[in-house]
Amino acid sequence: MTQNRPISPGDSIGILGSGQLGRMLAMAAAQLGLKAHIYAPEAGPAFDVSATHTLAAYEDEAALHTFAETVDVITYEFENVPARTAEVLAQHRPVLPKHSALARTQDRLTEKNFLKDLGIPTAPFLAVDDAGGLARAVAQLGRPSILKTRRFGYDGKGQALVREGSDLAVIFRSLGGHVSILEGVVPFSKEISVIAARGTDGSFQAFDVCENHHEHHILSVTRVPASLSAQTAKLAIAMTEKIADALDYVGVITVEMFVVETPGQAERLVVNEIAPRVHNSGHWTLDGALTSQFEQHIRAICGWPLGSPHRHGTIEMHNLIGADVDGWRTLLATEGACLHLYGKHEARPGRKMGHVTYVRPVKPDHT
Ligand code: AMP
Repeated sequence: MTQNRPISPGDSIGILGSGQLGRMLAMAAAQLGLKAHIYAPEAGPAFDVSATHTLAAYEDEAALHTFAETVDVITYEFENVPARTAEVLAQHRPVLPKHSALARTQDRLTEKNFLKDLGIPTAPFLAVDDAGGLARAVAQLGRPSILKTRRFGYDGKGQALVREGSDLAVIFRSLGGHVSILEGVVPFSKEISVIAARGTDGSFQAFDVCENHHEHHILSVTRVPASLSAQTAKLAIAMTEKIADALDYVGVITVEMFVVETPGQAERLVVNEIAPRVHNSGHWTLDGALTSQFEQHIRAICGWPLGSPHRHGTIEMHNLIGADVDGWRTLLATEGACLHLYGKHEARPGRKMGHVTYVRPVKPDHT
């Protein structure tokens, strides 16, 4: 039986995953007087800043039991936590966000059906179980369309574009022959994300809407506020709150959306993906908001009051990918650049090595 006792400063937060998100969560926990215990199958940047770590597989039930007994609440930095892992941990301590929220967002088909049932717009989609199913789905949705594996996709991995003349059997095999979904291509003009938190009492706080630019499917730049009408920004946040309420969510949630603009009509929002965690497009909150997304997540899972998401100014966050990080000395000497390095040794192409945030303060109002 899970012990749902109140969390106090001095207690321990268990975090599954040793990447940079785990690292920034551990640092936020420390700021609030909490200790972080990282559990991961491989060493990573989170180990360097945590009180304790366990190096073990997510299937190692003995290690999971021991880990769970030594912490007070458990969370994770990635969405692909195996169901059995979450189940074992939940026998000992609260796992937040709950596994039911994770299960709804781990599988693209389950996620899209969940959104559809809520009345939230998504790209048109069809389930594809085999090459024959792909041919039928393409006949309905047309070309171009996008085939995505139902599970384990991120940063554009597990995706293939179905073009005019593409060989469907080859495309299906190129994604490993896994069960997939086919999506119609959304003619978007912008990609945005809403990062918000929901507390154990149902309280809700959203950061201002972020506008995201990707390069080679990896987030490159986030700007806040997004260039949207106030009405569309409000709608994006309202959709996120609806999703978080429906999931009975606790913690930080990210909803990625497309903005579709048609001349003479209001902007339209289409939800692409829900990430049940802190998100790269929210890293700016470390320097640009009263409460960071990481602190907000820790507050939420501890059952503590959520902080203010107030933004300090106009923000630009740049990811440092691969060799970009070699410019760290120049960035340190750049006026207004807030540099965050993740302590990874090898700057492989496509690897997120750090980020830099620029905050242009809003001029004080002298009226
Ligand atoms: P995802 O892995 O679903 O986040 O997709 C990665 C990127 O592919 C998105 O950020 C979009 O730029 C693009 N993309 C994904 N799905 C669609 C879609 N249905 N229509 C147009 N572009 C898409």
